[in-house]
Amino acid sequence: MSVLLDMLRNASSEACSYALSQLIALTLFTVQLKNNILLLYPSDHNPLNTPPILPNEAKVFLGRACRMNNNDVEACWDVVKDLAWQGNEILDCIATDQAMNSTFAKHGGKLYRMSSICSLFPPTFFCINSGCKYVLNNTFRKLQTAVEHEAILYTSSVGPIPVQTHQFTCNGCGIVYHPDYFVQTIPGTNDRRRVYYNEDVVPQVLQVSTHHFVETSLVRMWRSNMLHAWVSASNTVKVYDSCWPEPWAPPDWTVSANLRYEYVYNGFKLLSLLEWHKSHLSILMVHPDTEISVIVRIPMQYQWQNKNQAIVLDDQ
Ligand SMILES: [Zn+2]
Repeated sequence: MSVLLDMLRNASSEACSYALSQLIALTLFTVQLKNNILLLYPSDHNPLNTPPILPNEAKVFLGRACRMNNNDVEACWDVVKDLAWQGNEILDCIATDQAMNSTFAKHGGKLYRMSSICSLFPPTFFCINSGCKYVLNNTFRKLQTAVEHEAILYTSSVGPIPVQTHQFTCNGCGIVYHPDYFVQTIPGTNDRRRVYYNEDVVPQVLQVSTHHFVETSLVRMWRSNMLHAWVSASNTVKVYDSCWPEPWAPPDWTVSANLRYEYVYNGFKLLSLLEWHKSHLSILMVHPDTEISVIVRIPMQYQWQNKNQAIVLDDQ
């Protein structure tokens, strides 16, 4: 290992990191493409044996994805082929999302007090308030005052999992950054408001209750089931609960997985509101104490600056 590290150190750092990233990417891609690679080998090839050369379509794909020419792809494959094909106890730990989570639970769970490597953070390292003194002075100070909370994330692929959520407070302006929104004081007043991030896409995770979060893709499926298959929110809960066992959590975890029909409705409403605002180039802003469940029941009252920012939906 030390010989390899010395060789890498002696190379220029930029070229070295680029080559390393190409090797890593090619290895991980080929681990995922094993069955596709085997398809193009004749029947007398033992699938357990490392293919000596890559099929042409794999070389073209890897060349484009890893930004290498054909000769470099072949040279890299020659170096990593046995590792990619046969695996080893290190690579097997990260080859899939499930493997990575298992490895983390085994070796890092107690350290981080988490059963999954997934934890929820605000989408920014820095304050994004243009009026903040840190921003005005270009200090680029990392958001430092952090608070952790225990929570449950309802996922579509592995069921409910315990996660740590983090909120950051900017010491320059007092804005509190949460995973899918921030809370700020309205300029010129003492009132606070919750502002959902104005990003190109809806966040991947939505907070539907104080300590409960749902993957947006799952909310989208629930909403589609309600609209097209008339699945009620309570039956949505029954279906989800029947698909997944009780999640493992540290013994003293304070939040338990307990999906409620209100969370389904809250996800439905929040996702629809966020999509509506995105399509109208506006930002969803509400009073910080407003429950998601009542947002759409307040006709026109949660608008803050102009009528175009408001939406009223039927309470489905
Ligand atoms: Zn700030």
